[in-house]
Amino acid sequence: MRKSSAEYKKHLFSMKNNLWMNGQKISRDDPRLEPGINLMSQTYDLLSHPKIGPLLRAKSHLTGKEINRFCHIHQTSEDLMTRHDLTKEFQLHTGTCIQRCGGCDTLNAFDIVSYNVDKLKGTDYHKRFLKYLQYFQENDFVAPITITDPKGDRTLRPHQQHDPDQYLHVVERKSDGIVVRGAKFHNSMAPYGEELLVAPTRALRPEDKDWCVCFAVPADWEGVKMVCTYVQHRPRKKMPAFYTQFGSAESSTIFDNVFVPWERVFMCGETEFGHEPGRLSSLYHRYNYSACKPAAIQILLGAAALAADYNGIERTQHVQAKLADMIATGQLIYATGSMAAINAKKAPSGTMVPDETLVHAARYLAGSKIYHEYETLSDIAGGLASTLPYEEDFFNPEVGPLLHKYIARKKGVPPEHIHKLWRYINELVAGANTGRAQGGGLHGGGSPIMEQIAMRFTYDLEKDKENVKRLCGITESK
Ligand SMILES: Cc1cc2nc3c(=O)[nH]c(=O)nc-3n(C[C@H](O)[C@H](O)[C@H](O)COP(=O)(O)OP(=O)(O)OC[C@H]3O[C@@H](n4cnc5c(N)ncnc54)[C@H](O)[C@@H]3O)c2cc1C
Ligand code: SF4
Repeated sequence: MRKSSAEYKKHLFSMKNNLWMNGQKISRDDPRLEPGINLMSQTYDLLSHPKIGPLLRAKSHLTGKEINRFCHIHQTSEDLMTRHDLTKEFQLHTGTCIQRCGGCDTLNAFDIVSYNVDKLKGTDYHKRFLKYLQYFQENDFVAPITITDPKGDRTLRPHQQHDPDQYLHVVERKSDGIVVRGAKFHNSMAPYGEELLVAPTRALRPEDKDWCVCFAVPADWEGVKMVCTYVQHRPRKKMPAFYTQFGSAESSTIFDNVFVPWERVFMCGETEFGHEPGRLSSLYHRYNYSACKPAAIQILLGAAALAADYNGIERTQHVQAKLADMIATGQLIYATGSMAAINAKKAPSGTMVPDETLVHAARYLAGSKIYHEYETLSDIAGGLASTLPYEEDFFNPEVGPLLHKYIARKKGVPPEHIHKLWRYINELVAGANTGRAQGGGLHGGGSPIMEQIAMRFTYDLEKDKENVKRLCGITESK
């Protein structure tokens, strides 16, 4: 287990250059990646934080050693609950999404699926996976979730595509491994990830055998090319603020005839299980959402409530109603996620799986309300949240004092506080990350329609219909 982010950065910056941005090859110490690396570093440096540190520590079920919780396979409901608390506290502390969740979610999915495939097929994927997991845990790696294919024509299955590479697939099987070709898009935090955990994105048919592949490779492995984008808060010159040091980056990750040794292959061709790694990774990711989204709501809520105080409108009925609605949404999402941990069940591999219907319900509520939370903050904060002049104008000797005079609100609140709060709200509702945060809140881990579909599969509606028949006195089966 790494003791601090220095060990993470030392390894990261020693990796081969396989990143591109804006037409140029870049190294991992490029300043545009720094805000994302700063955030990832918190998952090591907060080990000494009095509240978050204990949540970050877990015990490996393989070795009994202490490991970072982001490398852990959930063994109990308490594990799931601790992870829930960690997700929430981390986001409240940094003011932003953790990003490190996806790798852990995929590890948990691989643990379950490799075990189940072996049971049915007599393969030895699980043994390989556990060996890899121990290596991953001991090195305390950072890994993104690497699942979403480009997908070409959405109506066609992988084997039907005019270009077979639209879904990542096996192009050669060798005695010592496989060669894969394709791409994975929207690969969040991959530019500063160390390992890539790759799985199919959809359900597969027997004809899609070559597209049914799960594996892990180092992120700078031969043939892996990452085309990166990044999001950074507007830099502060005069008014430093804790949250501005953090940001994110994404990659469109190309696998250009990549050799994967067998010991890093955890599924290859067992199409009846093709959907499972993606489904389970999403389930774990949606479970995390039931903690990070309430934290995101608490930040929007805190900003809205403080803006209402500074505006002098904190007691008005419509403001009270709007804030209460936000409180209810955040609390319901969090409580539903907690209940999913309490009702969790063990998979045959021993991995703890949160209750599916409750996870989907929590994620559905979070996704369908996310724009409403932004609307409430924007509403209460007023137009200045969108049109606030630039930071340096407030420090200009001629217009600065005038700006401070005219942004003043309730008596007794220093104009500097109003400036600081509205600059933060401006970043939240009209900043460089706003659209990404909203889009991620809606679609990340699966859009609300996906949760609707999933709930219809996992919820026992027949039981409810039978109960109503009993109540109405319908005794026939029809
Ligand atoms: C901010 C962000 C971060 C992300 N991070 C990651 C990540 O780290 N790793 C990762 O693997 N993925 C990640 N994703 C990907 C995310 O899971 C996908 O965006 C999501 O699954 C939707 O896929 P898509 O973008 O290809 O959209 P599409 O599939 O193109 O969907 C577009 C529209 O087409 C519709 N559609 C699609 N297929 C069909 C069909 N067959 N029939 C009818 N309608 C159809 C959809 O319902 C939708 O309305 C991220 C996405 C976002 C926005
Ligand atoms: S959106 Fe939430 S679950 Fe996903 S990486 Fe960020 S904090 Fe984790």
